[in-house]
Amino acid sequence: MKEALLQYAWQHKLFYNNNLTTVNGNTLEIIDPGQLNTDAGPDFFNAKIKIGNTLWVGNVEVHVNSSDWENHHHTENKAYSTIILHVVANWNANIYRTNGEEIEQFVLPYYQDLEQRYDALLQQDAFVACADRLACVPRILLSGWKNALLTERLERKTNDIETLLANSQNDWEEAFYITLARNFGTGINSIPFELLAKSLPQVYLAKHKDNLFQLEAMLFGQSGLLNDTSKDDYSQALKEEYDFLKRKYQLQPINHHLWKLLRLRPHNFPHIRIAQFASLTYNSTKLFSKVINAKSLAEMESLFQCNTSDYWQLHYTFNKLSASKNKPIGKSTVKVLLINTVIPFLFSYGKYKDDERMQEKALTLLEQIPSEQNSIIANWKQHNIAASSAFDSQALIHLKKNYCDTKKCLQCRIGHFVLSQNR
Ligand code: SF4
Repeated sequence: MKEALLQYAWQHKLFYNNNLTTVNGNTLEIIDPGQLNTDAGPDFFNAKIKIGNTLWVGNVEVHVNSSDWENHHHTENKAYSTIILHVVANWNANIYRTNGEEIEQFVLPYYQDLEQRYDALLQQDAFVACADRLACVPRILLSGWKNALLTERLERKTNDIETLLANSQNDWEEAFYITLARNFGTGINSIPFELLAKSLPQVYLAKHKDNLFQLEAMLFGQSGLLNDTSKDDYSQALKEEYDFLKRKYQLQPINHHLWKLLRLRPHNFPHIRIAQFASLTYNSTKLFSKVINAKSLAEMESLFQCNTSDYWQLHYTFNKLSASKNKPIGKSTVKVLLINTVIPFLFSYGKYKDDERMQEKALTLLEQIPSEQNSIIANWKQHNIAASSAFDSQALIHLKKNYCDTKKCLQCRIGHFVLSQNR
């Protein structure tokens, strides 16, 4: 029996609960198993139990063997002096507090098939370990779990935004600009795009916001993609302009090797994305403020409409001519920007301002955006868990990446259903 599973059995009372006694033969009644503590210190806080006729309120420690108490040096650690019960799978030693008092112990009579069910879950080699049980999961349970997962995901993104804010003097526009740039990289080039934005504070772009050519010069120059091999008139002119602006603002470009083109469709090449980003910067000022004030999803989407300059209608990279093609930002990219930038920022800003309506607005927007289409969502669908909106798809992506892939089934509500069903 693993310690985590033993804790789980104690926490959820998955054990035979009649005529319980401690190792010393005293009657035991478990009124409240307490709150699981995932940080340092005792495993459960504020448990309530009755030993004999005495009511105890305090902390509980769980170990596989009694001797683990001593192995972990808990006798000398005052943080463990408040333990009122030591819960074990195997009793093999008496244990004591720092002051020499003996601590009562209890051998947990956990359900015999619990370990078997858990092992079966962990050994599954399917898309998710519980794949063959998903059809039985009640929809209401799933719906509540998706809500909790989505909130957890947005809280995590809020933490990332708070870190960015701390590094940008609490400037929401700057933090938004960096995150937006990151998501312009749509996965494969998100890191170089973020580094590009960090290397080029928005305040410099703002000074040239009425000149698309200068914006392109700064962005392409800082990306490292505008190198000495620029041959045609446009790229040479861009290079000259960048050299001037680079000196003026003392800029340092990022390494061009960071950009990836392999296996990308030309429309997604970083050159095209940067050209679109320049155009978006040219057409909009104070984008974050506009996002906050937008009244509808349609208004929000319209804020991100942008196209490339003329040169990029005929190119996918510098110097190589291609057939003329309009290259506006696509609907799917705008969707990525809304899901990964706009909504987390709305949620975080609502939290920062203590404005629940803004946080609600973020969640409502997610419900209005169609589900993402990717292999994770397709696999969930094959297992009869369909995503009807981005709200669902974000929750299911979070579940897969943060619970299923790391086998955190004991912290998952579906896992709890699978382990405790039909008792
Ligand atoms: S974490 Fe939950 S959904 Fe994922 S495999 Fe485990 S029980 Fe299933």
